[in-house]
Amino acid sequence: MKPYPNPTFAPEQTLDPADWNAFRAQAHRLLDAAVDRMERYREGPVWTALPQALQADYQAPLPSMGIGPEATQAHMEALLPYGVGNTHPRFFGWVHGSGTPCNLMADITAAAINANLGGRDHGAMYVEKQVVNWCRELFQFPATSSGLIVSGTSIATVIALKAARDRCFDFGSRKAGLQNTARGRLVGYTSEQTHSCVARAFDILGLGTEALRKIAVNGRFEIDTEALKAAIAQDRAANLTPFLIVGTAGAVNVGAIDDLETLADIAQAEQLWLHIDGAFGALGVLSERLRPRLTGLQRADSIAFDFHKWLHVNYDAGFILMRSEESHRRAFSERPEYLKGASRGLAAGNPWPVEYGPELSRGFRALKVWAQLAEHGTAKLGALITQNCEQAAYLAELVNACPQMTLVAPVAMNICCFRYQIEGQDAKTTDVLNDEIVVQLQTQGIAAPSTTLVNGRNAIRVNITNHRTTRADLELLVREVHRIGQELLNTGLAPEKWNF
Ligand SMILES: *Cc1c(COP(=O)(O)O)cnc(C)c1O
Repeated sequence: MKPYPNPTFAPEQTLDPADWNAFRAQAHRLLDAAVDRMERYREGPVWTALPQALQADYQAPLPSMGIGPEATQAHMEALLPYGVGNTHPRFFGWVHGSGTPCNLMADITAAAINANLGGRDHGAMYVEKQVVNWCRELFQFPATSSGLIVSGTSIATVIALKAARDRCFDFGSRKAGLQNTARGRLVGYTSEQTHSCVARAFDILGLGTEALRKIAVNGRFEIDTEALKAAIAQDRAANLTPFLIVGTAGAVNVGAIDDLETLADIAQAEQLWLHIDGAFGALGVLSERLRPRLTGLQRADSIAFDFHKWLHVNYDAGFILMRSEESHRRAFSERPEYLKGASRGLAAGNPWPVEYGPELSRGFRALKVWAQLAEHGTAKLGALITQNCEQAAYLAELVNACPQMTLVAPVAMNICCFRYQIEGQDAKTTDVLNDEIVVQLQTQGIAAPSTTLVNGRNAIRVNITNHRTTRADLELLVREVHRIGQELLNTGLAPEKWNF
């Protein structure tokens, strides 16, 4: 062998620590700071806006010279108290999971492995396959089903609806697009209470949001299945092509669960794809209390749901479960020569996740999902779901016991919507009052509910997907709503005076 050429290079650089002992000490310090923060989740305000000085830290120009590990860590530590508040026991806004301290271990491990789960044969892939199998088992899906861990229900919905759409064209649409098809215009159905991610998926998939029919709901905010049947018949008569029903297991406003069994019957009779948005509610199958309400779920063609909501996995982690692995793969598989599989070596382990979704590079989300299920088990995780439902029912009792508060929707699961109102006050003023009560609860750091519209009127919306909440937290919430409501009324309801 000839000697290697010997040009004069500068010594190679790397991003690894120059001093591993110093790095180790630094890592331990940050870990302590993180654990301190977690141990005190209950203390302090639920939410605090990022102080001006810290905001300024994030308006610096792009650094050409790095600031080094200590200064970088100091910036990160300073951020620890300024989350959205979902780790606090009185965070009740939107639908946020509260996370678990033990999930930190999974994130540390995943960071140390730094795996890319687009495909190939390596340890992390076995963990993801385990999670897929567990999800099959959880929802009684057949061995011929498939699944993919994704960032959340929004992207899970896009993946499911793409498979549903492409199946209508026997997957020829992947090449031909949606132009000039002989199939006619595709239309889908969902209820007025469905999350906006479904309409967004229609937009993203080139179907147009107008092709999503929003069917009216009944008094329990569940899709009116008779109106659904009528809408399908009407569209067929107009030569349109119904292809999809989207049901909801846990609607975002009031937590309603559609009649999934009837939806499955209609989908079967009409030969439509049944997709279920179960972002938080689908995991109700873990709860003895909710499981009977979710019958029919196991008949869906696809279910989208989140681990980061009611399973309290740290952000972000969602899932798409598909009954037909074939439809799933045919809607996404595309293996160019540089991604060719093999039966041995690193390119083995087929099929790869890249064949089931739009992403090639994917992080190791599976580990935190696996760790949560492995460490706590489904019995405890399910009992915590039940606990939240019981707490929402308890809150409804507290509301009913207060003459100034009115429930505006039945409590189906874990969401309680109510209004603070006094007799004789007009509805518009009550709307403004309720919005302001929520802003005051948030800015005073007491609690963080959100607001929504129920039957066209503003309501205080309390969603409990929080394993740290106690009944005492709900009692405090009701007392504080009452106090703030009274204080606002005492100012003569002049919004310009509402500066606490
Ligand atoms: C949160 C939620 C979504 C969206 O899920 P992401 O994980 O935020 O993308 C969709 N539907 C319902 C019912 C939700 O609660």
